[in-house]
Amino acid sequence: MTQREMHIETKVIHAGEPEPRVGGAVTLPIFQSSTFEYTGQDNYDALKYIRMNNTPNHIALHQKLSALENAEAGLVTASGMAAITTTFLALLSPGDHFLAQDCLYGGTFDFINSDFRPLGVTFDFIDGNSAGTWEKHLKPNTRAIYVETITNPLMGVADLKKVVAFARAHGLISMIDNTFASPINFRPAEWEFDLSLHSCTKYLNGHSDIVAGAVVGRAALIRKIAHKLIHLGGTLDPHACFLLHRGLKTLGVRMKQQNASALEIARFLSAHSAVETVNYPGLETYKGYPVARELLDGFSGMLSFEIKGDVATADRFIANTRLPVSAPSLGGVETLITRPAITSHSGMSAAERSAAGISDRLIRLSVGLEATEDLVEDFDQALHRL
Ligand code: PLP
Repeated sequence: MTQREMHIETKVIHAGEPEPRVGGAVTLPIFQSSTFEYTGQDNYDALKYIRMNNTPNHIALHQKLSALENAEAGLVTASGMAAITTTFLALLSPGDHFLAQDCLYGGTFDFINSDFRPLGVTFDFIDGNSAGTWEKHLKPNTRAIYVETITNPLMGVADLKKVVAFARAHGLISMIDNTFASPINFRPAEWEFDLSLHSCTKYLNGHSDIVAGAVVGRAALIRKIAHKLIHLGGTLDPHACFLLHRGLKTLGVRMKQQNASALEIARFLSAHSAVETVNYPGLETYKGYPVARELLDGFSGMLSFEIKGDVATADRFIANTRLPVSAPSLGGVETLITRPAITSHSGMSAAERSAAGISDRLIRLSVGLEATEDLVEDFDQALHRL
């Protein structure tokens, strides 16, 4: 069996592991050494030094992550935002124009909105589900198109095949933030996306104990991004590499359970009389469902919803729950609950949130690994006590 033929559950364990094993160790040890002996390297980027992202811990992760998405190359970074901003800074130049989906993680949106202009990069936001409108935003200097597989926090799924076809037709680099789906549910390279970006802080690590990021995709682009990362210094520390490597090994079982649990919870909430709307790409009634069903192997552990009432009702519901922790972030073993308007999307103005369809009473849930029955029972009692 070649590595490409392995199931992804096998790859998370075996892909990218050093051969032979280091000192026979079953688990790759942490190489906590900032610098390594000079062995005749003939260029700066090849020097063995943590900031060059080339310790054995980095190399193993690069190989494992690229294998998981069947991509050519991978690169880990100090956070998801380091992956995103380093990619932008490596591939965009003053005078370039950029197309981005109109509903994105707040940090990404804010960087595009606030930092692109001073860098001389112009941009337009596009509706990911209205391919017919994209062309009117195209300019001779448009360089790239950027979307999220499942958008944060409304769980929209753009016409991803059309994004790739549009990028191809117009010579754009196609970039996708695959954090919410994870490689278990979607592998962008298989659909010809040029670059897949991750906040590994979330599902890939899965234990809410590090921040980390990654870019996976075409080798020529990854080389450019790695060179920029060496200069910007957003390198993942070897100890965090070790924790990410450990977390990755259980990604398969975690993600499948979180997919199944979130689907059941989404169904429970959407059938409840106190709930107004539920955003989950696995619900047949949800607008992104047809694309999600065609392209995704699972619908993720993320959902968002609005309860009938106002912001105070939403806050009361959150306070009434007993199992979820009220905290931003997502993708860990514990269920997290938050109102994006005051956490993940608080960097956007109220007007920007409203334009993106993110209401102040929207509640976002990251379903953990607790028993689904216990979570449903908890949400039921929290709704009952409103
Ligand atoms: N992308 C998405 C979809 C996110 O939700 C986040 C953080 O919540 C990020 C990127 C940024 O990741 P990090 O916090 O690891 O920098």
